Amino acid sequence: MLLRFKMVEAALNHRAVDVKAPSSRPSDYFGEKVFGRNVMRKYLDKRTYEALLSTMDNGTPLSLELADSVAAGMRQWALDNGADHYTHWFQPLTGGTAEKHDSFSDPDGKGLVIESFSGKVLAQQEPDASSFPNGGIRNTFEARGYSAWDPTSPAFIVDTTLCIPTVFIAYTGEALDYKVPLLRSMSAVDKAATAVCHYFDKSVSHVKTFLGWEQEFFLVDESLWAVRPDLVLTGRTLMGHESAKNQQLEDHYFGAIPSRVINFMRDLEYESLKLGIPLKTRHNEVAPNQFELAPVYEEANLANDHNQLLMTIMDKIARRHHFRVLLHEKPFKGINGSGKHNNWSLGTDTGVNLFSPGKTPSENLQFITFLVNVIAAVYKHNGLLKASIMSATNAHRLGANEAPPAIISAFLGAQISSILDKLERSASDDAIRFDAKNVLKMSGVAQIPSILLDNTDRNRTSPFAFTGNRFEFRAVGSSDNCAEAIITLCSAAAEQLTEFKINVDARIEKGVKKDRAIYEELKRLIKSCKAVHFDGNGYSDEWKQEAAKRGLDCETSAPKIFDRYLDSASLKMFDKTGVFNKVELEARTEVKWETYTKKIQIEARVLGDITMNHIIPVASKYEAVLLDKAYKMKELGIKFDSDVELIRDIQLHTSALQKLVADMVDARRVANRIEDQREKAIKYHDTVAVYFDEIRDHIDKMEEVIDDQLWPLPKYRELLFIR
Ligand code: ADP
Ligand code: MG
Repeated sequence: MLLRFKMVEAALNHRAVDVKAPSSRPSDYFGEKVFGRNVMRKYLDKRTYEALLSTMDNGTPLSLELADSVAAGMRQWALDNGADHYTHWFQPLTGGTAEKHDSFSDPDGKGLVIESFSGKVLAQQEPDASSFPNGGIRNTFEARGYSAWDPTSPAFIVDTTLCIPTVFIAYTGEALDYKVPLLRSMSAVDKAATAVCHYFDKSVSHVKTFLGWEQEFFLVDESLWAVRPDLVLTGRTLMGHESAKNQQLEDHYFGAIPSRVINFMRDLEYESLKLGIPLKTRHNEVAPNQFELAPVYEEANLANDHNQLLMTIMDKIARRHHFRVLLHEKPFKGINGSGKHNNWSLGTDTGVNLFSPGKTPSENLQFITFLVNVIAAVYKHNGLLKASIMSATNAHRLGANEAPPAIISAFLGAQISSILDKLERSASDDAIRFDAKNVLKMSGVAQIPSILLDNTDRNRTSPFAFTGNRFEFRAVGSSDNCAEAIITLCSAAAEQLTEFKINVDARIEKGVKKDRAIYEELKRLIKSCKAVHFDGNGYSDEWKQEAAKRGLDCETSAPKIFDRYLDSASLKMFDKTGVFNKVELEARTEVKWETYTKKIQIEARVLGDITMNHIIPVASKYEAVLLDKAYKMKELGIKFDSDVELIRDIQLHTSALQKLVADMVDARRVANRIEDQREKAIKYHDTVAVYFDEIRDHIDKMEEVIDDQLWPLPKYRELLFIR
């Protein structure tokens, strides 16, 4: 029997895997694998506990002596919970997470073992990490990489390993990961936003960054996955004719989740909750076999660690259920892609969400101040924000066919838009008020009803939308590390808020009253950043033209979009905020270009292999059958042209494919000779990737005519509907 049919049979035989129902309520096991505050109190002495809290909350340095006590407590807790190894867990620029496991036990030379895990080992490690991408920063042998403990994200246990969240830096201090710049950007926006908060409330001492991600993904049966080399090696289908039924009926969205999937989700939720990932919602997405998981939002550093952790354990748990998780942004042609909405907000240590309207004119002025400054930052750095979410895989979701354009604009909704319009036209010192229907009033100060913005006003086509009390950055890719987007948002906001403060202070110094100075500056900003505000249909062709007219960044080529990191405005912004220096930015873009090239290179190879080893041989086999039949019919004097037509058709496709694959290989050879990473990536984009659609087109057409009994690859209808 054809392997494909064996696998289909295997897939159909996969039954829902039993999940041990947790005997207790989520609140009983939530965080049970985390070295959280409750556990710390139990395992650390009072002095150590308090010192560690102060490090976690205020960044107070921890002495080595206290680090030793923390390590001792942490080790004891880990051993009590079945761990026998520990690892520094970090997020290198490869994407994903890295870990190197060490045993808690060390031989002492006399055949005995002692358990070694000191404060020094907890705090710092030198992983043998010369193969992590570094964009040239660690090219010399003495330039080593270090991982260092991030006490703001708690350690946790996966299987039998204690994982210690760490940053990953070069010996010379440059960031080689996502966590260092994320922490820097959170601290930059903390500083800048706190200073602006002081116009309204002197008691604010910190502003925190919050992130709530929504993770979309596809599930496919592992038997079918295993016989699709494209899925195995690239995470997406490089070919496959559209299924007769796909998402037209939209019957998958909010439909009942099938039991095999439900059991997987339950298992995943149970494991996630134990690891302290506060998962809250799960549902089907629009496309068949597409799902979404979202937690309750948390501080951005922790939220991002949790997303990284979730992506890892998802894969593990899926295997238990004979599934594979596809995190690729566009695994199937003609079917919705997957994103990872990043819900982002800033909040004060006094408990105020700065993107939420308040009850008093002062609170509302503060809200409008932060909102307008964010829009101004997004306007100024719209090209850079696009670069922050761009990748070879996400490029399929942005700017390619059947996808929103690669243009960053901000959606504000009718209410906020009218507020900004009125503000722009109003006399400077009107109070911002809303009537009972949440309609803005702009005169006099009177009782201000507490306002509830109508956040049902959603525009699903906007890459960056205000949704009532937060911004939703929707352009982030499903496989992305959220940090990249949040780093850019926070840094750009920090720069803008600092500038705002300087300008308002300058007006105040000239004798303008504070509120009026703020209004004047806001009015100026609203006018200046109008171009990025767009509430219409972001998927329409008119918008592409309009956006170009408005001067927004409309570049669609991923390797050229990466250039935005090195624009002088970006260099200046990252430098001023202390998030990245020039060396780091150059290194990171280098890594982006290199990664882009590698991904396209792998896809090109896989596509070439499948075409030559799977498709053409099968086409030839079928052709031979048809030829034999046609020949015999002719012998018998039966005259029909349709078989001959079909033979000709297949022959045209196969010879076109042979030529295209040979040309693509040539194009790759030329590109491979280029040394410069940027040039090489551009070459891959312009001269190699251009073959993909054409090759696929021929294969997909043959899939329609070649005997189903011969077709080697699981078809879309099998991949998407068997579960
Ligand atoms: P939807 O799909 O309608 O956008 P979800 O409930 O799936 O809504 O996801 C909303 C996400 O936004 C959740 O992760 C939630 O915790 C998060 N979120 C809610 N409020 C905030 C906020 N103030 N800041 C950051 N994230 C938030
Ligand atoms: Mg959302």
